[in-house]
Amino acid sequence: MTETVFSEPQVFRDIATLQQHLTEVRQEGRKVALVPTMGALHEGHLALVRKALKEAQEVVVTIFVNPKQFGPNEDLASYPRDEETDLKALGKLGKVTVFIPGVEEMYSGDFSTFVDEAQLSKGLCGVSRPQFFRGVLTIVGKLFNIVRPDIAIFGQKDAQQAAVIQKMVRDLHFGVEIITLPTVREEDGLAMSSRNQYLSKAQREEAQALSKSLFEAKEMVEQGVRSTDRVIAEVTHLLAQHRRVRLIYAQVIDTETLEPCREIVPGQSLLALAAWVDQVRLIDNIRL
Ligand code: AMP
Repeated sequence: MTETVFSEPQVFRDIATLQQHLTEVRQEGRKVALVPTMGALHEGHLALVRKALKEAQEVVVTIFVNPKQFGPNEDLASYPRDEETDLKALGKLGKVTVFIPGVEEMYSGDFSTFVDEAQLSKGLCGVSRPQFFRGVLTIVGKLFNIVRPDIAIFGQKDAQQAAVIQKMVRDLHFGVEIITLPTVREEDGLAMSSRNQYLSKAQREEAQALSKSLFEAKEMVEQGVRSTDRVIAEVTHLLAQHRRVRLIYAQVIDTETLEPCREIVPGQSLLALAAWVDQVRLIDNIRL
């Protein structure tokens, strides 16, 4: 059976034309939702777009591999890009507007202004990727200003990113409502990620250890364990059994403040981890 194609997405590549379109949209009184992505879309992204289509009459999906959030030795050049497949997947969901700017459109040669959050962004991934959240906030701030959405939708898969964006919105009065949706997983538990494409079969199997260790931690908390040390010790132990997996961090933190917790508070604590599976950096988290 072939899937129904609802409509070809309307694609914009330059800011001025997109804004012209959005001016008309707003004149018609339509609510605007923004879903920022770096493309190579999977079910995790599509869940965000489906939610946007339910919440708003105009859905803008952006596809932009943002160079400013990659470090010099990271995977900017090899990051998966497949515009045609992305547009097909979006077209099947309903009527969406897609913004796919080139790098020059977003960053003029003399670009020199950045958004830097000084607290929540400095721990966890901020330690090993010091340029990352500055790049993310700068591009998301730009997209908020370009699109001026009523709502913007992000994934809990990137829990620290969602918290840091929420903080930027509050601190800088962006006037957009942030909605965060649960992580979409593969059948075996692996959190969906565009970077999963990098994994060989053997690496893919070892990568399962990440979500397995998170589920094990949740199970411990359900059994009554409240000690962060015990949970982290178990997670570290489980991951250490996998030759290809090298832990970057595993931390229990408060879901909102991202402050480390010594005691787990069910519903309020989050276990977040990042690990290398050989040369592929993956992150995942679970609410305990
Ligand atoms: P990315 O293309 O990786 O920058 O992600 C774009 C958006 O999709 C971000 O808000 C991510 O948090 C979200 N996202 C990525 N993977 C998943 C997933 N497995 N489940 C839910 N949301 C996701």
